[in-house]
Amino acid sequence: MPNRPSPRVAILGFSIECNKFAPVATKAHFLSRTYLEGDGIIEDARSATPRMLPETPGFVAAMDASGAWTPVGVALAMTEPNGPVEHAFFVELLGTIERRLAAALPVNAVYICSHGAALTTEEDDPDGVLFAKVRGIVGLDIPIAATLDLHANVSERMVASVDAFIGYRTNPHLDMRERGAEAAAAIREMLGGVKPQSALIRLPIVPPTVTLLTAAGPYAEMIELGQRRMSPEIMNVSAMGGFAFADAPECGLSVVVTARRDKRAAETLAREIAELGWANRARFYPRLTSVDEAVERALAVGRNRSLPALAFADVADNPGGGGRGNTVFLLRTFYEAGVTNALLGVFYDPDLAAEAERRGIGAHLEAQFNRAETTAFSEPYSAPATVAAVTDGICVGRRGIYAGMRLELGPCAALTVGGVTVVVVSHRVQCADPVFFEMMGLDIGRARSVVVKSRGHFRGGFDEFFGPEQIVEVDLPGLTSPMLNRFTWTRLPRPVIPLDEGVDWQPLPGDTAYA
Ligand SMILES: [Zn+2]
Repeated sequence: MPNRPSPRVAILGFSIECNKFAPVATKAHFLSRTYLEGDGIIEDARSATPRMLPETPGFVAAMDASGAWTPVGVALAMTEPNGPVEHAFFVELLGTIERRLAAALPVNAVYICSHGAALTTEEDDPDGVLFAKVRGIVGLDIPIAATLDLHANVSERMVASVDAFIGYRTNPHLDMRERGAEAAAAIREMLGGVKPQSALIRLPIVPPTVTLLTAAGPYAEMIELGQRRMSPEIMNVSAMGGFAFADAPECGLSVVVTARRDKRAAETLAREIAELGWANRARFYPRLTSVDEAVERALAVGRNRSLPALAFADVADNPGGGGRGNTVFLLRTFYEAGVTNALLGVFYDPDLAAEAERRGIGAHLEAQFNRAETTAFSEPYSAPATVAAVTDGICVGRRGIYAGMRLELGPCAALTVGGVTVVVVSHRVQCADPVFFEMMGLDIGRARSVVVKSRGHFRGGFDEFFGPEQIVEVDLPGLTSPMLNRFTWTRLPRPVIPLDEGVDWQPLPGDTAYA
């Protein structure tokens, strides 16, 4: 197709990471986080502090910078990780996208912003359903580029339905904007006549999330190999870690390679990277610190200021993986053990935040955590506390994955519980940004122990305070525990590493490639 002077490019998205074990995500969750239609998508993408994640702003900015185009906003729904999406809302969103995209035709290209690990209450691969729907509407000749979180569970349908499949390459996710820009570059190329060919290989490895860091480790080596093999023929290499807690048949470490024209080149490289992942398989097992050892280390750094301060990651209660952000195991243990000079955040408890706000700064109260219990892990607990600070929870992310984004945490309070100061929020969010403590007037640099309810994104926000050797991943119960053998799986492919013994894998020639 000839490149028109001002190509019309449709923009749409559906972005959520779903934990099968967490409560259902409703339409209200999307409406309160990011739900946009039509020009509203473009306006938010171009604003100084967008509400949406940075892929679409990066895409729009790169399209703006690379020549004339006409953006056509369709619909975009995005929210925090949660349980499966209520199916009726997904059907409604699909209908909205179909209606608005059909009305916008003809378009010259489509950009899809997707997380890639969605579920609905009735569908294990809604991302694939959406991609195939979009392909059906625009037809085979219109280029489609999609960006995906590296925690995507990749289905054959997802890869077969799009031309350029572009996954994040950093975890913490600090390259979202760059991947959006890469999608724009791919669309410009495809408008110029390039017809990419891709290959997908999925391994029988469902990595616990803590083994998927990209600074170093078995997964980082796969990504590095892919980037070393970039060449004029290879358009993109996406090594995708997957998201185990989706408990879906598509879960697993996968490799998607997109070549500019040569399908064999895509297949060969996908196999080489998959073989490295398989060779690394013994390293996709978590190594966590026991809670007893965590308490000892927190007491020690409290006593001895010559020791470096420590960050304790409550990886099993990570709102960024569907956790509720409200388990009390570490709070209770630290408080009762007499840990001093500690911060803990962010604890999701709207009732407690409201009570603290009502009582005001300086008030003493018996803080009742989890009076409205949300999961079996969210046990009620009470302890004497003092209200140290209250805010309205409106802030702009300072560092890491939320940098530059406008965030609304609802009424927030800092409560001093013995030697632990707890930041309580009213909207569930992963503790990935130091601003969540700083907006309460708390000084992270003076704390000896900082507990973060986060699996790994805190590393991108708190790296000013804590190097990798100052981070302690604690083994606790929770909806996002990396100890996958503690869950009852129903839909995961089996046998898989790290759950089963005797898992085998052979690359099969030819059966994993897509035109
Ligand atoms: Zn992710």
